Parts: sequence; C-alpha cells; structure tokens
Amino acid sequence: MRQIALFGGTFDPPHVGHLTVCHAVLDQLEVDEVWLMPTYQPPHKEPARASFDHRVAMLHTLVRNEEQIRVTTIESERQGLSYTVDTIKDLQHRYPNDTFYFVIGGDMVDYLPKWYGIEELRSLIQFVGVSRPGSLFRDQTVQQIKMEDVDVSSTSIRQQLAQMSQPDGLPVSVLDYIKEHHLYEC
Ligand code: ATP
Repeated sequence: MRQIALFGGTFDPPHVGHLTVCHAVLDQLEVDEVWLMPTYQPPHKEPARASFDHRVAMLHTLVRNEEQIRVTTIESERQGLSYTVDTIKDLQHRYPNDTFYFVIGGDMVDYLPKWYGIEELRSLIQFVGVSRPGSLFRDQTVQQIKMEDVDVSSTSIRQQLAQMSQPDGLPVSVLDYIKEHHLYEC
C-alpha cells in the first residue's frame, strides 16, 4: 500500500518551481512517491501551447534523476476536458490499495470551489496546498506545505523564450528539448 501525491498541472513547460513543489511534498508529507500528472485539456485555461506528448517528454527530462517522482499520462486516456474528479475515480479504481493526495499551488486553493464536481472530489481525496509567492489561502480543509519562494511560472518562461532571452527557472535539459523541437516559437 503506497501513499502517492498527485501533482496536476499544464506543465507548459515544466520548470524548477514544479520540481521544488515535488521536493517540498516529499520532505513534509509522508508519501512514497509524487506523480506528475499533465492535464490533457485544461478545463480552466487556454489549451496548452505544446502538445501533450511534448509536455510529457519535458516532464521526463525534468525528473530523469529523481527516484521518487514519476509521470502519469492517465489524463490522455479520456477524450474531452480533463476533469480531476473523473481522473481520481479512475486512479482509485485502478489502484484500490493506494492512498492518493492531490497537490496544488497555493494560488489555486481559492479557486477550488469553482472546480467541476468539487464536493464529490473533496470526499474522495485530501488536498494539499503548497505556498507560492503572493498566495495566502484560508481554506482549513486544505493541508498546507511550506515552500521557499520560487518566483517562476510557465507564462514567464514562454514570454522570455518568445523574446529570445535566457529563461530563468528552466533546467538546461528542458531548454535543450525546447530548442531541439522548436517549441514556443512565435
Ligand atoms: P502558467 O504560468 O501557464 O499558468 P504555472 O507556472 O502556474 O503555469 P502550471 O502547470 O499551471 O504552471 O502549474 C501546476 C501547479 O503548479 C499549479 O498548482 C501551480 O499553482 C503550481 N506552481 C506552478 N509554479 C509554481 C511555483 N513557482 N511555486 C509554487 N507552485 C507553483
């Protein structure tokens, strides 16, 4: 029986902020593994700029030296928008002996009431919120993990790439992948 922290996101592209979240979770929550779970089609955001397969490949590059961090592609197995409640039911059905947590950045916690099927989702899984620069959340039902501020976002990285400047917070291995595949070019 494993304790697994799921960390969902668009990861367009993945960056050191995401990796730092994984390490904070492994340090402070009693889990065996963190599973990075890229969204196939985010319900709350514009479609990702990079394809699902490229985002998965970038995630594998990001965590290639990490023994306790894996990448799950489960959300690509369903068509349409990726609703977390459906994914969690699917995972709990496939892995009935494991316990799952769902990790989100602190900036997302106040939006939880807007998530599709949130009441059912809260009954299925414990949420864990990781602090993020500028985010304070008051939701007592969300367990809080502290993390040093890592002031980087996928948006800022995409903007820097478009201006041909060296992006902050992007590991060289992921930058090499982006250049090789001509991602995020205007
Ligand atoms: P974008 O800028 O495109 O919105 P993002 O950098 O927020 O992207 P996502 O893939 O949307 O990245 O984020 C996945 C999860 O990671 C979210 O829960 C988000 O709050 C969290 N997260 C992203 N960057 C950080 C960071 N620097 N510190 C803490 N949490 C983060």
